[in-house]
Amino acid sequence: MLLCSSLVEGKIATNMMYMADQEKKIGFIMCVCTGKCPGFSKMDIWDFINRVRVELPVEYGFIHPQLCEEDGDRFLSDFLRPGRKYLIGACAPNMQKKMFRDAFKQSNLDIEKDLIPLDIRDVTTDEAVKAVQKKLEEIEKRDGGKKVDG
Ligand code: SF4
Repeated sequence: MLLCSSLVEGKIATNMMYMADQEKKIGFIMCVCTGKCPGFSKMDIWDFINRVRVELPVEYGFIHPQLCEEDGDRFLSDFLRPGRKYLIGACAPNMQKKMFRDAFKQSNLDIEKDLIPLDIRDVTTDEAVKAVQKKLEEIEKRDGGKKVDG
């Protein structure tokens, strides 16, 4: 069967991008629950996210105001990419899985493997940084940072 060379080149380029994506570190997103939730009142969210970004082995780190609102869903659908893993520091893991399921599915991601949900409510800045560090170490120990089961 003959295949158009540009089609083959396109497929090769897509596969290379996918592999490059898989080699990237985990992306960290903090959901700050509008910034008014008492669950985050013990920490300095800016110190926290800057320490995660600068000190920990993540691809990037940033804060979203409310991922479970409609615009949060739209954001996730736009942002998430297949072949990547996302550590989300926010509310309870079971709540995150319910709320982000559709956006992960739309982006061809498996919520059970590609989302690493972490509860960082009711902790200090230091405790939250340590919780993220511990989770990253667990992932690294388990599978070298490539496959994660939440
Ligand atoms: S995803 Fe969780 S932490 Fe974020 S706004 Fe919704 S309930 Fe709050």
